[in-house]
Amino acid sequence: MSWDRNVVIKNKEELQRMREAGYVNALALQTVRDMVRPGVTTIELDAAAEEVIRRHGGKPIFKGYPGPYPFPATLCTSVNQELVHGIPARRKLVEGDIISIDCGTLLGGFVGDSAITVGVGEISPTAQKLLAVTEQSLYEGIDKMRVGNRTGDVSYAIQKYVEEHGFFVTHEYTGHGVGREMHEGPQVPNYGTPGRGIELRPGMTVALEPMVLVGTAKTRVTSDQWTVVSADGSLTAHFEHTVAVTENEPEILTALAEHA
Ligand code: MG
Ligand code: MG
Repeated sequence: MSWDRNVVIKNKEELQRMREAGYVNALALQTVRDMVRPGVTTIELDAAAEEVIRRHGGKPIFKGYPGPYPFPATLCTSVNQELVHGIPARRKLVEGDIISIDCGTLLGGFVGDSAITVGVGEISPTAQKLLAVTEQSLYEGIDKMRVGNRTGDVSYAIQKYVEEHGFFVTHEYTGHGVGREMHEGPQVPNYGTPGRGIELRPGMTVALEPMVLVGTAKTRVTSDQWTVVSADGSLTAHFEHTVAVTENEPEILTALAEHA
């Protein structure tokens, strides 16, 4: 919980810069979402996302991120049982896969962080349900991002929605404050207790990111030392938005334009 010491309230001007970073991040995700089809490689998606970010004057914030070794890519691309932190490679997507695409942009000194999970061609009914439940759980959490609530209210809303639909949330990876740094306070897990945690205040900016598994809450890290997979090999999904707490409605800073 060490991030909780580092909660940074953003002023109007800083929020505007976060909107700009979030917008470019959304554009990058939108671009790669439209490329997802059988036969495309995850490294092609990665190159396209990097091109969009750099064309808008941004920098891919994941590239070089410290870990077991510096993260080597612009995107995390996590397929099927891979929950998060998958490394783009020459692997070709195939019909029926689902792929989580997570992207981070540094622009004007601030970070936008968001993720989507997309089906490749026709996907199974279980995969369809998993995507729908995971995405909706994000919006259940966003709806609690209101002044006077606490992080536990947000966490609980995510967990409750996911578990009511028969799936599992990870307890090992969490949402987080975001701003000049990709990881600031407060930490916002995908499980929690209403009324507990840090009180939400206007100007707080948080990346909420439900990570949902079909068969177990347990995960493990693969031999590449980055990729997190479900312990039982079951399907997983991940959606994320950077969200600002305001005096009124929560503001999504990384909203994608409606898909035609
Ligand atoms: Mg992310
Ligand atoms: Mg994040």
